[in-house]
Amino acid sequence: MRYISTRGQAPALTFEEAMMTGLARDGGLYVPETVPTFSAEDIAAMAGKSYEDIAFTVMKPFIGDTFTDEEFKGLIDKAYADFGHDARAPLVQLAPNHFLLELFHGPTLAFKDFAMQIIGQMMQAALARSGKRITIVGATSGDTGSAAIEAFRGLDNVDVFIMYPHGRVSEVQRRQMTTAAESNVHALAVEGDFDDCQGKLKEMFNDFEFRDEVHLAGVNSINWGRVLAQVVYYFSSAVSLGAPQRKVSFTVPTGNFGDIFAGFIAKQMGLPVERLVIATNQNDILHRCMQSSDYTKHGVTPSISPSMDIEVSSNFERALFWAHDHDGAAVAGLMDELKTKGTFRISENAMTALRDHYDSGAVDEATTYATIASALEHSGELLCPHSAVGVHVGTEHQGENPEVPMITLATAHPAKFPAAVEKASDVYPPLPPRMADLYDRTERVTQVPNDLAALQAIIRERRAR
Ligand SMILES: *Cc1c(COP(=O)(O)O)cnc(C)c1O
Repeated sequence: MRYISTRGQAPALTFEEAMMTGLARDGGLYVPETVPTFSAEDIAAMAGKSYEDIAFTVMKPFIGDTFTDEEFKGLIDKAYADFGHDARAPLVQLAPNHFLLELFHGPTLAFKDFAMQIIGQMMQAALARSGKRITIVGATSGDTGSAAIEAFRGLDNVDVFIMYPHGRVSEVQRRQMTTAAESNVHALAVEGDFDDCQGKLKEMFNDFEFRDEVHLAGVNSINWGRVLAQVVYYFSSAVSLGAPQRKVSFTVPTGNFGDIFAGFIAKQMGLPVERLVIATNQNDILHRCMQSSDYTKHGVTPSISPSMDIEVSSNFERALFWAHDHDGAAVAGLMDELKTKGTFRISENAMTALRDHYDSGAVDEATTYATIASALEHSGELLCPHSAVGVHVGTEHQGENPEVPMITLATAHPAKFPAAVEKASDVYPPLPPRMADLYDRTERVTQVPNDLAALQAIIRERRAR
């Protein structure tokens, strides 16, 4: 299996190289050259299997011979051992034919743990084999950073630097990033918003001298390994509702488009998915784009679902690559326009290709609060604000197509966003007992200006050699 860049100008890589590299050298994102497919019998055989078994089956064709089967099974088992639920990704029912996929039982209470834990295991195994040392730099709107720190803290051969927007993450998110005691963990509070952090990360990757000097590696959702790990729960949940005999739809609270793109890959692999519904908060650039063909930046407004406060939705580039029949030059052209003009327009053909798979909806703040309250009243489920955005949009779409089961992804635990949840529902969501001491731990963080040279200086100085 070879991996190619969405912009068509970078060398093709193996799975291990693509995972270690993150962003391609032409600025693009790595994708598999061809997507392996499963027959209906292959999918039916997943029924009743453990999450770990399904993870092995789904991911194996993509990793090739990076690890032996036995080694890979060991890494998967380790990755999910610390989850607080034996099913790993349990489904609960919200309403007739509407289900919630709880992806928040990992160590940092958000779906990012599903990918980060297995990436951590795979990177560590690959580095142990090669004897190399890497510097992981990540940009986060809150949840990626904590999941990365949890996955990489104390590992040999890795320094991890996480940039988050100063003052724009929840207290639980911040504490999960700033309270790791291990010396290989470095939390950086950047004076800017998430798009600034992500922009600085891309600049670091495009500074080849710096990139090679510090052996830069990325774990943002641009990393193919993360998308791949997320494909698994589309299979596990659909199969438990009767796939491949029965079609299902998914609604996904979306920011950087990584999670919903994993659903698209599942569909390409043969999972019978009717619709993939993009749910955004008031930062609705993806919804506006689906309606108007125009991807135009308006500026980000902070919301109660901060992990979706994003305007440069990185993985949308992967969707555009498929919508343009793998034409890297066309994608590179659009990305260039976004960079220079803050906008691009998608051709009619490409829009038709996108609409073949994706629907969309946007939810304002008042509706998000109201959805938290009504879900609690009608199903007893306490939602985080991101999941509430999904449930509102999922309910609307399910109403239009009631015979197809709708699975809405619950992307974080309500205790990660207690202020908004309490305001909406009058219920204060407690942290699970295993992290009840979070508010007592000592914080360690460096505030940094939104400046490439300043950030690079800190990374050069602090990383171990
Ligand atoms: C990251 C995140 C999202 C958005 O996921 P993308 O893959 O970036 O679209 C939604 N909800 C929560 C809680 C998140 O942490």
